[in-house]
Amino acid sequence: MSGERRPLAAANWKMHLLRAEARALCAALRAAPPTPGADAVIFPSHPLISTVAEALAGSEIEVGGQDLHPEDSGAHTGEVSGAQLVDAGCRWAIVGHSERRRDHGEDDALVAKKLAAAVRHGLRPVLCLGETREERRAGETFAVIERQLSAALATAPADGASWVIAYEPVWAIGTGDVATPEQAQEAHAFLRERLAALGSPALAASLRLLYGGSVKPDNAAELIAQPDVDGFLVGGASLDAGKFLAIIHACARR
Ligand code: PEP
Repeated sequence: MSGERRPLAAANWKMHLLRAEARALCAALRAAPPTPGADAVIFPSHPLISTVAEALAGSEIEVGGQDLHPEDSGAHTGEVSGAQLVDAGCRWAIVGHSERRRDHGEDDALVAKKLAAAVRHGLRPVLCLGETREERRAGETFAVIERQLSAALATAPADGASWVIAYEPVWAIGTGDVATPEQAQEAHAFLRERLAALGSPALAASLRLLYGGSVKPDNAAELIAQPDVDGFLVGGASLDAGKFLAIIHACARR
């Protein structure tokens, strides 16, 4: 089943790095031998996108935006449109990251609109979803991720090649508390089953499900060995070229 889903390693640089640091990190990634068994994409903060797109031009590593506005243009100070992301060199956009849900009060309805905006501009969305520690403790994990998934399915493409889901338990992001391979697999298998029921069996079979939350070189191999884990969204470890390359290689060896 997982054979038809090419592993993907995605780097979320969050609000880190200046241009010279971004260029150096891109140069280190480019200098490494290619990894034909996996895809890689970098999500820099908005002011770094053009720099990173130029630094990675001609390489196999793609670039994406960490967020976008649901509307195509207009009076929205501080926001970034899908067209601007594309113009700067992006092929991808993250929507619904838990840090935006937390810091900006983004709800499922807004995330669905952002997902639609990404699709409208030809960007491949990475839909982030996942439960908080309190929700997990209360036994609400499946209910929460099903709610987040079904809201997004209203605007998501019907084919699995045009978007990606990142299951990111909030309690594992930036905490060092990585989900066990069994916890990740259980959530991914649930999402895939729900995708089949709410979307279609073809969508469920082809959509890549990334895991995110304290992924490091030393836990990537056992996570990617799970049948429904198709890659990673990596924060902290993606700021170190050696660590991110090791994670790409773990993906490629699946
Ligand atoms: C993230 O930013 O999506 C993330 C998973 O961060 P970290 O790898 O640092 O936990």
